[in-house]
Amino acid sequence: PEPAAPPSDRPSVCMRGVRKSFDGTEVVRGIDLDIGSAEFFTMLGPSGCGKTTTLRMIAGFEDPSAGELLIDGDDVVGLPAYKRPTNTVFQSYALFPNLTVAENVAFGLKRRKVPRTEIAVRVKAELARVGLDGAGDRRPTELSGGMQQRVALARALVNLPRVLLLDEPLGALDLKLRKTLQVELKRIQREVGITFVYVTHDQEEALTMSDRIAVMHQGRLEHVADPVTVYERPATTFVAGFIGVSNLMPAQVVSVHGERARVRLDAGVELETDAVGIPAGERCHAVVRPEKLAIGAVGADRAAGTAGVDGVVESSVFLGTATQLVVRLAGETPMTVLVPNADEATRGELPGGGASICLSWRPEHVHLVRE
Ligand code: ATP
Repeated sequence: PEPAAPPSDRPSVCMRGVRKSFDGTEVVRGIDLDIGSAEFFTMLGPSGCGKTTTLRMIAGFEDPSAGELLIDGDDVVGLPAYKRPTNTVFQSYALFPNLTVAENVAFGLKRRKVPRTEIAVRVKAELARVGLDGAGDRRPTELSGGMQQRVALARALVNLPRVLLLDEPLGALDLKLRKTLQVELKRIQREVGITFVYVTHDQEEALTMSDRIAVMHQGRLEHVADPVTVYERPATTFVAGFIGVSNLMPAQVVSVHGERARVRLDAGVELETDAVGIPAGERCHAVVRPEKLAIGAVGADRAAGTAGVDGVVESSVFLGTATQLVVRLAGETPMTVLVPNADEATRGELPGGGASICLSWRPEHVHLVRE
């Protein structure tokens, strides 16, 4: 496949045909990727897909079994981690418990024999950046998990790496703290202008923070794109299912005219949409996201230009900001629908379990993926 294009001219990290095997088992199976300078790039995928191994190869904790790996244009294969222009932030913080917060942050600068006065200034600035003004004399063990991760971040950033690698850095924190730190990490990344390569299995985290996301599956990159594209136009069934609620309607391409395809859903309707390279006759899935579906009465006039299929409401769950319905179509496909709780009147009118309804959507909100 074509390497995904970086947003800027010179790639910060460049991988060509990168593979990695452990004991004869290949866990990274040919990665071609350019990560742009100052990009917030996320590798997203389920446990075991090879994302940590890929990050560790960039860091220099592992070397590829095959392929090329360049950082800022320099071949780094064989170069030990400490000689690479990278730093890594781990989920476990990995702070030195017997050193103060300031000494932890100063560690790399001290080792490089940076003058003492400069160290003091840089450590202070970095602690302020991560919101730890005045915490320099404390011990890591006196701090909360969130604060310890801020120290780890400051300790990495103070070295001015060209690339900062982050391996599930928020994985040990509770949801609320994670959300706060997601926003802060993004702000800090913009401020320092350093390339961030971020590993997570949390799709919402990836969508929130990233300039681009690489969705990984079984050692390969299935889709590399910006968050909106990955969500709205997933490249494969796996990507559609991993990001958000999938709503995969089984279908077959009837005919293709240029870029457009006529598709018959197993649930009984035909519609026209972008062919995305799937040829006539082929089985596929039509994806519509839950918030893009509308419900109405069976047989009622739909808004002009919408497509729709009939189904039966299986369940209805109040979620606070929205109500989530599961609707079963003919052909047994379950579809999730999110109805915003805009006002109480609408909520009162929502159909309950067992009701027959019509699901509809605008044609531009349906997207085909290969089966
Ligand atoms: P997780 O989120 O669980 O870490 P991951 O997507 O980051 O998942 P990797 O940690 O890259 O996945 O692991 C991919 C596969 O490689 C796994 O099956 C793992 O057991 C295996 N693996 C990783 N490191 C080693 C190693 N040093 N020796 C042997 N096998 C390894």
